[in-house]
Amino acid sequence: MRGVRAAAPSGAVPERLRSAMDVAARLDQLQAAKLRRRLRLVESSQGPRVTLEGREVIVLCSSNYLGLADNPRVRQAAADAAERWGAGAGASRLACGNMGPHERLERAIAEFHDRPAALLFGSGYLANVGAITALAGEGDIVFADELSHPSVIDGCRLSRAHRFAYRHRDLEHLAWGLRKAGDRAALIATDGIFALDGDVAPLPELAELAARHRCRLVVNEAHAVGTIGPGGRGTVAAAGLGGEIDVIVGSLSKALGSYGAYVCASEEVRELLINCARPFIFSTAPPPPAVGAAFAALRMLDSRPGVVTQLRRNAAALREALAEAGLDIGGGRTQIVPVMVGDSARAMELSERVLAAGVYAEAVRPPAVPEGTARLRLAVMANHRVDELQNAAHTIGRAARELGLTRGAERELPRAA
Ligand SMILES: *Cc1c(COP(=O)(O)O)cnc(C)c1O
Repeated sequence: MRGVRAAAPSGAVPERLRSAMDVAARLDQLQAAKLRRRLRLVESSQGPRVTLEGREVIVLCSSNYLGLADNPRVRQAAADAAERWGAGAGASRLACGNMGPHERLERAIAEFHDRPAALLFGSGYLANVGAITALAGEGDIVFADELSHPSVIDGCRLSRAHRFAYRHRDLEHLAWGLRKAGDRAALIATDGIFALDGDVAPLPELAELAARHRCRLVVNEAHAVGTIGPGGRGTVAAAGLGGEIDVIVGSLSKALGSYGAYVCASEEVRELLINCARPFIFSTAPPPPAVGAAFAALRMLDSRPGVVTQLRRNAAALREALAEAGLDIGGGRTQIVPVMVGDSARAMELSERVLAAGVYAEAVRPPAVPEGTARLRLAVMANHRVDELQNAAHTIGRAARELGLTRGAERELPRAA
């Protein structure tokens, strides 16, 4: 049969070569559209300033909001856990990977959120996919805010349920969809704080709709744990909602400075996830050093809730300075601050200009955000100094003016709070 393949008509491209060419062609396409990304190398540990390819820059694109990734006590906890328990868990929790540090952290997380139970996942991505796919399936309808994180969207896709993406924070659109869904509605999923706009979900109203239509509400608190609400307990706690929210997903990788994530829910839902959430079942348990570090970080947050206030003060200071510089920063109030640009190429240009001036901020472009809403996305940390945030705002304002991106100075300044 070999001869048959060798005798393929001349000019036909062998399969392997063709796919290799596709890769190059796709990269060229991305390059031409100015959408090709590249990795930049950080040559220090993670802090409010890092060494980026040989230069010190202020970091405005980290989710290490409380600076815990590099905190001495958190580092030590990781080292201690490595010494005591080893580098890895060796197997899934359902095999021999379920260890003391996992269960200890789960109890601490459940207590932190004042919920009956918690279950660890390898990452926030996996937790969202795991929770949603376990709680919805074929024949159901899942509702998600259209600007929810891709892990929420992918969870909805993988669930095989029918998907309904309601317009961002649009309760009427959601209510309309729920009425149409009747008893097929399975769950509503939303981010607590939206990752790219920094605004907050209308949780009381969502909880009411979920109750009225008897479907579950899943709130992804990846950016909200450690940053908002009493003691950093998230948007659910900030809204005074506890038992009304069925499932809280939190990340250990952001404000808590480690790696991994969790789902907080009833004992019963935890049991279901252990049995049905594929990312939990078919993936190795989180490594003890990451789990030990997250435990220490949670303890620190619990004992020093003032860092959350400090973060919010810093966010307000940055927002105020950016507004004074004539920039459009949307209406949010959290630690995530979008500087709206619109055009993708100009958003890239803005991020490159401010980086040249020592300000490391991320340009976010479609398809991550809707067409025409490219932006610089800034993320504040509790251990930034106010003066360095103000300087960064001035740098961004100057670059934006050079690019003709600022509005007239007569524009009324939004009040930062
Ligand atoms: C980062 C992020 C996640 C994923 O969390 P990881 O622990 O980093 O996988 C989920 N949702 C939102 C909104 C996020 O920003």
